[in-house]
Amino acid sequence: MQDLAIHRPQTVAQAIALHRTGASRYLAGGTDLVPNLRRNIQKAQTLIDISGLAELRGIRAESQSLRIGAGVTLEALCASDAVRAHAPLLAEAAALVAGPTHRVSATVGGNLMQDTRCYFYNQGDWWRTANAFCMKCDGDTCRVAPKSERCYACYCGDLAPVLLALDAQVDIAGPTGARREPLAALFADDGMRHLKLAPGDLLVAIDVPVQAGWTAAYEKVRIRGAVDFPLAGIAVALKRDGERIAALRVACTGVNSYPGLVPGLDALVGRKPDDAFHAALDKAVRKEIQPMASILTAAGYRRRVAVSLARRLVERLYG
Ligand SMILES: Cc1cc2nc3c(=O)[nH]c(=O)nc-3n(C[C@H](O)[C@H](O)[C@H](O)COP(=O)(O)OP(=O)(O)OC[C@H]3O[C@@H](n4cnc5c(N)ncnc54)[C@H](O)[C@@H]3O)c2cc1C
Ligand code: SF4
Repeated sequence: MQDLAIHRPQTVAQAIALHRTGASRYLAGGTDLVPNLRRNIQKAQTLIDISGLAELRGIRAESQSLRIGAGVTLEALCASDAVRAHAPLLAEAAALVAGPTHRVSATVGGNLMQDTRCYFYNQGDWWRTANAFCMKCDGDTCRVAPKSERCYACYCGDLAPVLLALDAQVDIAGPTGARREPLAALFADDGMRHLKLAPGDLLVAIDVPVQAGWTAAYEKVRIRGAVDFPLAGIAVALKRDGERIAALRVACTGVNSYPGLVPGLDALVGRKPDDAFHAALDKAVRKEIQPMASILTAAGYRRRVAVSLARRLVERLYG
């Protein structure tokens, strides 16, 4: 592992100011970043340890929303009474991330900002050397799609689809000031540049609206029963009005380079979930996801899993 300088700022302003110097990276729990630095697939000269920032801590139930600091650990998220009362699905999804020992230090912010993953990239230096590296790191060509100018590494975070389905907003502080935006605005469709952040931008908090009448669910399919990323994951939030679905959001992970809301579901609102409804939902999910051979499991299998999960979760929540 390369030699690194570590800074431990006490405020968000100090952290952002430090980020302007050298090739810096924010370090939260380190459960994603440190293995990547060890493998030399992410590079840094300076780590800015943000685990001491009080402004990133705490979970607060406000009148219309739940505010979760980006530095809250997944263990604390799972144990929080406020989260269990106002957004229980978030606690359930956090409990599916990695293993208990990871969740002690892994944070909500790090989970959202984690790197994308690919079979040809998440390997040791010797493995990648033998395979002439790839475009995302140290090489020129994409091994998955050799003529491609973009990278198809997959976004595999578990919290993002849930937060997208719950319509979360994020607070970001950076060298040019602070802003609030929908979580969906953070992500882009390229495995090498999947975060729309300027250098030094720091995720401070996530704001989850508390919406009456909605129910939500998340499921992921993974190879191992624990300590494993989703091959495909779907979160659904819906609101029922009598026999009809009054509102619907479906978000996916593990199948694209970004976690995304499935577009085009407005046409399903106001309808009963009959066969025609499900056929249209299947089509919308299938169209949104573009799994490539960037992980070992077949891309077509992951697409079918995502479609089935969406159908199953809508049926469960409606019922
Ligand atoms: C064996 C193993 C299994 C795993 N399984 C899963 C899984 O099932 N599901 C899953 O979702 N993840 C999984 N992970 C990935 C990782 O553990 C989690 O995503 C974790 O939540 C990352 O949080 P962290 O605080 O450790 O992030 P870090 O490693 O500290 O940071 C990750 C990235 O986010 C950036 N970052 C962190 N916080 C901020 C912030 N506030 N603002 C701006 N940038 C920030 C860092 O600079 C870094 O680039 C697994 C990891 C391992 C090693
Ligand atoms: S999709 Fe291509 S460029 Fe991206 S990490 Fe995989 S092999 Fe590399």
